[in-house]
Amino acid sequence: MEKEFHYDIVVVGAGPAGSSAAYQASKNDVKVALIEREESIAETVRTSGVTWIKNIKEFQIPDDCFNPVKNYSFCSPNNEVTISDSIPRAAVLDVRKTYRWLAEQAKNEGTDIFVKTNVIDVIKNKNKDIIGVKAHTPSGQVSFFGKIIIDASGFGSVVSKSMGFVTQWKRFGAGAEYEVRAKNIDPETWWLMVGQKYSPAGYAWIFPISKDIVRIGVGVGKPESSVDPTERLKELIKSKTGPIGKLDEITPIEFHYGLIPNDGLSRKTVYNNLILVGDSAGQANPLVLEGIRYAIKFGRIAGRVALDAIKSGKTDESALFPYEENWRKEIEAKIKSAGKIQNRWIGLSDEQWDKELDIIKELKPEEFLDFIKADFGLSNMLKLATRHPKMAVRQLFGLVMGIGK
Ligand SMILES: Cc1cc2nc3c(=O)[nH]c(=O)nc-3n(C[C@H](O)[C@H](O)[C@H](O)COP(=O)(O)OP(=O)(O)OC[C@H]3O[C@@H](n4cnc5c(N)ncnc54)[C@H](O)[C@@H]3O)c2cc1C
Repeated sequence: MEKEFHYDIVVVGAGPAGSSAAYQASKNDVKVALIEREESIAETVRTSGVTWIKNIKEFQIPDDCFNPVKNYSFCSPNNEVTISDSIPRAAVLDVRKTYRWLAEQAKNEGTDIFVKTNVIDVIKNKNKDIIGVKAHTPSGQVSFFGKIIIDASGFGSVVSKSMGFVTQWKRFGAGAEYEVRAKNIDPETWWLMVGQKYSPAGYAWIFPISKDIVRIGVGVGKPESSVDPTERLKELIKSKTGPIGKLDEITPIEFHYGLIPNDGLSRKTVYNNLILVGDSAGQANPLVLEGIRYAIKFGRIAGRVALDAIKSGKTDESALFPYEENWRKEIEAKIKSAGKIQNRWIGLSDEQWDKELDIIKELKPEEFLDFIKADFGLSNMLKLATRHPKMAVRQLFGLVMGIGK
């Protein structure tokens, strides 16, 4: 007979969003299942793991999970800029260690973790609301029933898709990356590389993990470009293009590949008994396509709202709406502004990129980071758009604010 489990909350996907949601939901004897299809948590790495020290401290991620970065280098075909800060404000995560730590946090709070458990379908009641999921496991098919289901299955959004609420993301980033050992690494400096030869719609990167290891990658916007990021990455490494050449001898350790949504905040994220969070909700900063801090932060909020809903005995859309209200209030305006810059960047020629770097050069480290993080407050942006001494900077931020042309 098919096995059945009954939980209060069933979380699908043990990435940063799912583990964080499970951690926050597993309080006050609320029963939580966290379901992951891979053999172990973070078995496959699909991300470069750049995030921000401020968020790392807020989440209390242990110090041995990241490498701090304080110099931000950018290069285009004929220009180069390095913005150096006095203290590190960015970091490159040891992704596997961090994601496993997040899952361990959930387990310590009482979450039951099921690995090798691949969710393939949803279970609905007679009103067509979700009440569980079906999964393949090595010991056969299993049904997980829950009063609330959290879809944290990432890009594939398996639960929401099976419910018929969403279809495949139309606009997304595809990224390929090698983690490599290299001879000449500056562990405090990252590189972003822009222009046609790096990526026709996106960028390439070098993110240091230690003095011996970096991640070299290429991201390509789809459907804007048909370039295969893996092929482009291999070419760049072989030809030692730009700052890749400075790394000296390179020995690949591991290959990473992943997809990230870039359709803006287009999805509704609460339904009766269902919450979408992380990449399945499209919560990503479009400028550099980073979503880990949102996955953790909004994962925790999703978990808290789900817990409150269970305690109140009401799990319909209106009971879960505080989650959607909360995350939209926090990032919607910022992501919209960042989308305008992204649209400008996607169309730049090599020469225009060379000039864009001259504008970026004018920013102070905090301004640059706020910019790249899509974390600008309105008053800061207005100040740059109206009072910055350089006209090009005023124009750039004027565009974001919708001032002038
Ligand atoms: C190439 C690349 C580079 C990136 N670089 C950065 C970066 O530097 N910084 C940053 O902040 N963000 C980066 N991102 C984005 C970041 O990785 C995501 O925003 C983040 O991982 C989202 O977390 P998540 O938990 O929502 O999804 P995921 O991390 O994708 O986790 C989803 C989990 O669900 C599991 N799952 C999926 N389907 C099923 C199923 N059917 N049954 C059971 N389990 C399932 C998966 O195995 C996975 O463990 C990058 C993305 C890509 C593609």
